[in-house]
Amino acid sequence: MSTAKRFPASLKSAAAPQRELLMPQRHLQQATVDAARLARPSGTGLDGGAVRQRMVDRLRAEGKFDERVLTAMAAVPRHEFVDTALAAQAYEDTALPIGHGQTISKPSVVAHMLGLLMAGAGARQRGSLGRVLEIGTGCGYQAAVIAMLARQVTSIERLQGLHDKAKANLPRVALPRQPRLVWGDGRIGHAASGPFDSIIATAGGEDIPPAWTEQLAPGGRLVAPTAARGRGQVLMVLDHVVEGGVSRWVRSEHEAVLFVPLKSGVV
Ligand code: SAH
Repeated sequence: MSTAKRFPASLKSAAAPQRELLMPQRHLQQATVDAARLARPSGTGLDGGAVRQRMVDRLRAEGKFDERVLTAMAAVPRHEFVDTALAAQAYEDTALPIGHGQTISKPSVVAHMLGLLMAGAGARQRGSLGRVLEIGTGCGYQAAVIAMLARQVTSIERLQGLHDKAKANLPRVALPRQPRLVWGDGRIGHAASGPFDSIIATAGGEDIPPAWTEQLAPGGRLVAPTAARGRGQVLMVLDHVVEGGVSRWVRSEHEAVLFVPLKSGVV
């Protein structure tokens, strides 16, 4: 039933101007609601940490992730690393676009890869990832989580647009120390900041670039999506083992994954 029909004919003309007066207020009200929805969440919203904690609790319930990694993830506001329009999805277990055709990794994938790094011989002994090299900074989210678990983080990105984005995003997050961000081709690593106790790549190549193996410290572990014969892309783990003063590199293939390609050169 329409509002007009509820009024006797004599009141109709009186009701009409009142409705017109009320209309702009409704628009204003709607605008306020929209503004609140579109603004970067703050206060009791995503910033409050409850949504983030729920995401971590859901991962914990799966029973297969490293508790220290989950604690680090509970401390890093993922919504600060995605566009405002996607902030509501920031705590779902999903990859999201970050611009330039790239994506921020799924939280469960971040948790799994960092868990693999934490299980490396050196990290187990130290209880920390030590000096870390990340290839593929993207929006900087994973670099922030790593910073909670490491002594020093160097993260390389080949796309200047994303390197700049990470540079803007990271200082908004309270971290024990800020990652060192480098704009460059991560396939050559970053010898000046190495050797590294942990190396992690978030883009997948045909093989592990020799520079990464060279820059992996004794006792160090590398985790990288890499093409495996007959299996497509898998998570490859490479350990730098030293026995009797002799180095050897031990590879193991883990589950099939699908990461963006590791490309050469900078853009
Ligand atoms: N860890 C990121 C995931 C970004 S996706 C995050 O938390 O958001 C992978 C990134 O690897 C992309 O930004 C892509 O540009 C970058 N990349 C691909 N090849 C690269 C290379 N050779 N050197 C450095 N970065 C590279």
